[in-house]
Amino acid sequence: MDLDKIRSDFPILKEVIYMDSASTSLTPEPVLDFMLDYYHNYNANVGRGVHRLSQMAQQRYSDAHKKVARFIGGKEGDLIFTRNTTESINMVAQGLNWHRNDKIVTTLAEHHSNFLPWLRKKKEVASLELIKPGQDGSFEISDFEMAIDAKTRLVALAHVTNVLGTQLPVKEISQICQEQGAMLLVDAAQSAPHMPINVEELGCDFLCFSGHKMLGPKGTGVLWTRQKLQPLLLGGGMVEDVSTTGFKTRKGYEGFEAGTPNIAGGIGLGKAVDYLTDAGMQDIADHEARLAGRLLDGLREMEGVEVYGSAGARDRSGILSFNIRGLMPHDVALMLDQVANIMVRSGHHCCIPLMKHMGLRDGTVRASLYLYNTQEEVDRLLKTVEEISKMALN
Ligand code: PMP
Repeated sequence: MDLDKIRSDFPILKEVIYMDSASTSLTPEPVLDFMLDYYHNYNANVGRGVHRLSQMAQQRYSDAHKKVARFIGGKEGDLIFTRNTTESINMVAQGLNWHRNDKIVTTLAEHHSNFLPWLRKKKEVASLELIKPGQDGSFEISDFEMAIDAKTRLVALAHVTNVLGTQLPVKEISQICQEQGAMLLVDAAQSAPHMPINVEELGCDFLCFSGHKMLGPKGTGVLWTRQKLQPLLLGGGMVEDVSTTGFKTRKGYEGFEAGTPNIAGGIGLGKAVDYLTDAGMQDIADHEARLAGRLLDGLREMEGVEVYGSAGARDRSGILSFNIRGLMPHDVALMLDQVANIMVRSGHHCCIPLMKHMGLRDGTVRASLYLYNTQEEVDRLLKTVEEISKMALN
């Protein structure tokens, strides 16, 4: 991985230290150029026209689906472009045919996007069971063994959680799901951008993630599914035939993407996947693990700083939540920006139930790393946090 070359593709990094990639990532110049090329040179709709611009847009848009499917090892099933992870999860919640005695299992560490859709379903299905993490954010596999039973229709969980950065043992959980005949939805919003992913190896039925967190443009997301789903939207572009009494949907992703899609966005996402593949997903994961380890060790040593999440670096990711005693998370984030040009997230991170469970009323400060971050940036964050915490202690 050529870090200097990568950083030159993100000009804003000359101005700031960007450590908020768990919220949304930066977008490199080649991806922006690729999208601009669509608008300049073959701006046309997809799935409809026969003229050459339309054919070209169709080809690139469909290629982008294939690239993203390859990226996650999705040889079978449908890979659908959505607006974001939230839309992908809602498509599953609305698209499955639920029965009165179905049970849904999820965890208390989920992002609201993988929580509210199931909370709403609670009125329709028999029960919703929540598995609680320990105080360090880790989960006991025995809790999943107990919760997932023959009634369980769906287990929905994050691969990597967005506040504590804990990696869940998805393969083991998938095994339990298979034994009990339950489907498994993996929210890969915080994993697909950062590590090699293979849906066959994970053994999931649905994989949901956001293009905008993996160098793609805003307004792009993905749902991969091997199950039959009802489309969320009905309308143009998704039908093979329509009569006065019914309609026949198209096969594959087209049957789910009614209306004119985000064509430049989808094409841009395909280019982002090329970019990540060229950098090497394992190299990206190793790079982030090195930086995260350094950040974790540095923060742990600091007086007046509380670090949340697992003690071991092994089941962690490039997401690190902490607080400086005596200061509000938002104030710390503002100071990091003003003092050192460091952009981090602060607050509840769309995880209010987890924050309540951990007794963190005001949330945390969250630094999240990506392929473009450097050791010098991590050291700069550490130095600034130390200065702020010393100030708070005095
Ligand atoms: N799930 C997780 C684990 C996330 O981190 C996020 C984004 N923070 C989401 C879902 C929602 O993603 P989006 O806003 O792109 O829908």
